[in-house]
Amino acid sequence: MTPDRVVGRLAPSPTGGLHVGHARTFLVAWLAVRSRGGRLILRIEDIDAGRVRPGAAEAAIADLAWLGIDWDEGPIHQSTRFDHYRAALEGWIARGLVYPCTCTRAEIERAASAPHAGEEGPTYPGSCASRTAEEGVDLERRGIAFAWRFRTDDRRVGWNDLVVGPIERGLGGDFIIAREPFAPSYQLAVSVDDALMGVTQVLRGDDLIPSTPRQIRLLESLEARVPHYGHIPLVHDADGRRLAKRDGSIKLAALREAGIDPRRLIGYLARSCGWTDGIEPSSPRDWIDRFELRSIPPEPWTLVPPHWPPLGTRDAPTGERTATDV
Ligand code: GLU
Ligand code: ZN
Repeated sequence: MTPDRVVGRLAPSPTGGLHVGHARTFLVAWLAVRSRGGRLILRIEDIDAGRVRPGAAEAAIADLAWLGIDWDEGPIHQSTRFDHYRAALEGWIARGLVYPCTCTRAEIERAASAPHAGEEGPTYPGSCASRTAEEGVDLERRGIAFAWRFRTDDRRVGWNDLVVGPIERGLGGDFIIAREPFAPSYQLAVSVDDALMGVTQVLRGDDLIPSTPRQIRLLESLEARVPHYGHIPLVHDADGRRLAKRDGSIKLAALREAGIDPRRLIGYLARSCGWTDGIEPSSPRDWIDRFELRSIPPEPWTLVPPHWPPLGTRDAPTGERTATDV
């Protein structure tokens, strides 16, 4: 028996330009697949119609190509896959695993996007938990708007994280998987796609750790194989805040248009992951034999804007300890 082939995915949300933090995460995700001769899928997570920006998917594709990060399949747009998401929901309705919820409008509206740090919201108190799935079907027939929640319990979910080691977390209460009129949530779309696409390995930012127990629970209920997860610490700015897509200076498109050598950026990112002491210009491929997931520092990587972006200039910051200093 040959071991199963690794299948990974790059899953940008086209809601703004990719920045240096995304480049770091995608580099690690790419290496973790390429180093094992696996297959990579590019999946565009564009189900949140209110937040998708025109041209952002094309820009993300151009950014990845500029970095030297390639893929084997895709781009596959989630916006074309609603039939799959609906079918999974129908299965959960039939099994009584979901119930209709008519509260917390704001949370319901936010559910289509991945909840990043601090966006998880409070634990749902279970106000609608006594409702049955049939009541939801009835509301749907009457054209009443509501959300489907997946019923949870108090059991904790554990996994051996490829980057940070063993983790155990609660599910954070019954969570939204879709709203009616039908719109899938991030948790639903990601889980169904990871299942149907045969994804075996997920490397992504650690602000998505609270979502992982939910996705594991959904995958288990779909009787799908649960991938190995690895969560990569985020990039912070000098004030200790998470890098936001609005910070133009660290956007990949800006670096690309400024004529900066992507090989310098890759070398810089590799150093931030603990793989080298120097900042050698390099391509992603140069790190296949040298990268190590467990050497990625557990704390957020602090990017210091005054030193950014001198990359691409001959006497750029080689040897200076800037970006990795906390
Ligand atoms: N599309 C999500 C994001 O950009 C990532 C989802 C995932 O990797 O599971 O935030
Ligand atoms: Zn409710």
